[in-house]
Amino acid sequence: MAKMKAVVKTKPGPGAEILDVNIPKPGSNHVLVRVLATSICGTDLHIYEWNEWAKQRIKNLPQIIGHELCGEVVELGDNVKNLKKSDVISAETHIACGHCYLCQTGLAHICVNGKIFGVDIDGVFAEYALVSANNAWVLDEKIPKDFASVMEPLGNAIHTVLAGEIVGNTVLITGCGPIGLMSIAVSHLCGATKVVATEINEYRIQLAKKVGADVVLNPKKDNVVQRVLAETGGLGVDVVLEMSGNHEAIQEALEALRPGGRYSILGIPDTPMEIDLGRDIIFKYITVQGINGRLMFSTWYKTSRFLSSGRLNIEPIITHRLRLDEFEKGMELMKSGNCGKILLYP
Ligand code: NAD
Ligand code: ZN
Repeated sequence: MAKMKAVVKTKPGPGAEILDVNIPKPGSNHVLVRVLATSICGTDLHIYEWNEWAKQRIKNLPQIIGHELCGEVVELGDNVKNLKKSDVISAETHIACGHCYLCQTGLAHICVNGKIFGVDIDGVFAEYALVSANNAWVLDEKIPKDFASVMEPLGNAIHTVLAGEIVGNTVLITGCGPIGLMSIAVSHLCGATKVVATEINEYRIQLAKKVGADVVLNPKKDNVVQRVLAETGGLGVDVVLEMSGNHEAIQEALEALRPGGRYSILGIPDTPMEIDLGRDIIFKYITVQGINGRLMFSTWYKTSRFLSSGRLNIEPIITHRLRLDEFEKGMELMKSGNCGKILLYP
């Protein structure tokens, strides 16, 4: 059987290994893609480091990790009608069942039977990968191939920014990891009148300025709530986009939001936290909204159109391009926070 290089999590515990494994055969509803580029997500780092979440969540070792990709279709399953060989694709990483209540009512991104690439099944840090034909997103030829791999996290940002009013609004974005940075750029493009961002890592503070944040605050040095009030005439911001998962950032943003505002949360706290519901949510009359994944597939259409229009520039957010066999270096960079998005090329 033909072999390929892949980054495999072989055992519970920190780390992962590059191994020679069999190139998989596509089932009737899958395609085999040659991976042109992949990118590292925080989830991959969690699995690599084997944190508490990974210990509970990852059940099927050994498993190829990674889920963000750009790939070229090289082999088609018998039932696949929507793709052809040499199509260049990105992929939605939430695999929906198509039959449950949620799938049938336009909420496939939170399918009750949902599986995730590189989490529940083999992922894409490899020379080849299987993608379910329903999850493939054929890349518009105007979009640089490098960007295809980051369309998935960019979709998270676009989903969050567009989950409520944004035109003419003031916005606070807490956390400038890759998705927070993308949200800054998207908020600007979508007509936010002032974007305040918070971040504790100096490298990412500089990136936030580069992608167009009007004000960048460091909660380690600045009083975020006071500064946001000062920037908004004492009112507070209209919209919070929470992109850090950090308890203090979540609390500060509750206080920096104006009464009646929108609070959209993408960041995932690693432990439960206490919130004063009466003071910070009910009497303040704010709308708190959890955001999960991307809408299938309206977010993908928007993401594709933003990129092919040339109006959304995410190039500054891609800070490192490494070979796949340098994934350990990539993971270390991710851990340090001294990076934006890291691409890996098989
Ligand atoms: P990331 O971990 O790279 O970014 C988080 C950023 O928050 C980091 O740069 C960190 O320095 C910063 N931060 C930490 N403490 C802070 C504080 N007190 N104030 C301000 N900033 C602070 O993650 P990412 O890839 O950009 O993703 C953003 C968040 O969204 C993460 O929590 C991730 O787990 C989550 N996520 C959610 C979904 C979803 O579907 N809901 C999907 C992808 C990612
Ligand atoms: Zn379903």
